[in-house]
Amino acid sequence: MTPFETYNELIKAVEETQSSYQVLNRTPAGHPILDVRTGGDEEPAVFITAGAHATEQAGISAAVALLDRLETDHEVHVIPSRDPIGLDGYPSALSHILGRDVHLKSFDDLEVLLDREGHVVHLEDDILLALIGDVGFATKRPEPDGDSSQLYLLKYLKYIQHEFPEILEPFKGRRICLPAGQPDIPGSGTFDRAYTLVVGPDGRLLHLNRFFETPWAPVEVECTRQVMADTEPALSFDLHETQLIEDRFYFGVNQHGADEKWERELGRAIQTATAEAGAEFATEADVARVRNITVADPDVRPPERLEGVELLKQGCYLYPNPSAGAEGLNATHLEAQKYGPSIGTETGMWGAFEDRVEILLTVVEAGVEALEARH
Ligand SMILES: [Zn+2]
Repeated sequence: MTPFETYNELIKAVEETQSSYQVLNRTPAGHPILDVRTGGDEEPAVFITAGAHATEQAGISAAVALLDRLETDHEVHVIPSRDPIGLDGYPSALSHILGRDVHLKSFDDLEVLLDREGHVVHLEDDILLALIGDVGFATKRPEPDGDSSQLYLLKYLKYIQHEFPEILEPFKGRRICLPAGQPDIPGSGTFDRAYTLVVGPDGRLLHLNRFFETPWAPVEVECTRQVMADTEPALSFDLHETQLIEDRFYFGVNQHGADEKWERELGRAIQTATAEAGAEFATEADVARVRNITVADPDVRPPERLEGVELLKQGCYLYPNPSAGAEGLNATHLEAQKYGPSIGTETGMWGAFEDRVEILLTVVEAGVEALEARH
């Protein structure tokens, strides 16, 4: 099994499963955003999403593989890619804006192109921020033995938002496209995926797993919100990955609170199943490191230990009050607040691709089985 190379390839794979789907809306570049139906007609519904961050590919592949593998009578909705533009990669995003085919061989190529075709807004060492039309494009070479371009730029731009917000002024209400810059991770490569950030009209820089319940949510976020509102899922999954925990894995149960006993059973069932499937669980230090990235505020010191979180079993965390925090609501927060418990997963990107996909398939299967056993 290998990651999807393009969003069209993903759509083809979805169609081969014979699952029905509806097109919720289209990205600014025209990609149809899919809500795929599987399972049966029994309520309550289950909602599975992946790919809000396009570099996190095992979740995307698992979401499609589930269409064949998940056996349940419950109504299941799947949005396999919450950022099709990012999935199609950085040159594709540039091609759309420039109206011609763009091929990039190196960061040299990219820097020359942004300088020639864009309006350069900010330049510092090898970091370049440019506007082409109404889309921002950022570049930074990966750190040797360190952060990928995407991770470095995410942290750097968060720092800019807090310390030099005037730099982001021209990007207000616009997207900023980052290159993956993960040459050692198959599928992501240097430019094969892009990571989408959006600067809200209030100047806050957020990724596509934020902006829930804001009036200026990007269309990809709106689509996820719409399926949630239409189906009121009793159980949701959002599948993520990180480069910060080697090949380890953890997940969180965001608690709805109406049936705490079952929420704990759900966590235990998923933990047991993933342990049997061979998962090596992340440490608490791993989890603290990942959770801190999303804040990346220079005024916030990394927590010494996890706060407001209960370690239920190794690799399984309970989040009793899934709330907005510094960056606002993400999908699992909103699902847990309004509808039912939601599971957020993080697989380590340095594991073998098929192993990561298998762990995520196991998470969903075990979770849905726990839902069925509930009544
Ligand atoms: Zn993610």
